[in-house]
Amino acid sequence: MRRPLVAGNWKMHGSRQSVETLLEQLASQDWPDQVELMVAPPALFIGQCNERLQSTPIRVAGQTCATQAEPGALTGEISPAQLRDAGCEFVLVGHSERRALFGETDEVVCKKFAAALACGLRPVLCVGETQAERDAGQTTTVVARQLQAVLDTFGVGGLAMGVVAYEPVWAIGTGLTATPEQAQEVHAMIRARLAMLDDEQARKVQIVYGGSVKADNAEALFAMPDIDGGLVGGASLNADEFGAIARAA
Ligand code: 13P
Repeated sequence: MRRPLVAGNWKMHGSRQSVETLLEQLASQDWPDQVELMVAPPALFIGQCNERLQSTPIRVAGQTCATQAEPGALTGEISPAQLRDAGCEFVLVGHSERRALFGETDEVVCKKFAAALACGLRPVLCVGETQAERDAGQTTTVVARQLQAVLDTFGVGGLAMGVVAYEPVWAIGTGLTATPEQAQEVHAMIRARLAMLDDEQARKVQIVYGGSVKADNAEALFAMPDIDGGLVGGASLNADEFGAIARAA
């Protein structure tokens, strides 16, 4: 019923040359039909990625976007309309690095979600707790709060037009993956909260897991009933490993 999504977040990695090499390797892989695939390169490489990946099932995403679709005096920003125009189908919003390092609040993230939807992009809403929040037993509270602004504005149906990515901050880039059971517990909690609002739509929402997903742990994570794929950082920079993760979904 829900199609799995395997997405690669390249973060601030790559040069024209290294991206060309990676794209060549991605283009020559055999991709599974039943899985949705996407990569989020640095914005500079979006055109290059779209051109090179056109003949593959891999779609392209922005890593973030402005809070408005309209053009304006916002030096350095890229609007979701521009991402769409450049061929993107998705955009990440509220990645923990954006929240922690660039001060993005739930309100800002919600505006980005709204602007992305208005442009026909599928926003990937990233949520997740820090180690300190988990230790304090606040995982549910934090994740619920991060979802709330979008739910208040768009309901579960609006959320279902995008994707939820549960990325516990303590598992990102640390090699400390959440166990399949730990991740499933939070994914199930998210879906249960959504189901209280709208059971039918809640079943449709893709909830992917991110945080040190690798070829050797992907299968166990993706086997969990509420884990609908992955948002992969470091391992997505290696075409073979990304391919293996996609085939595990
Ligand atoms: P890693 O897979 O490198 O832990 O990164 C996860 C992530 O932040 C994806 O958005």
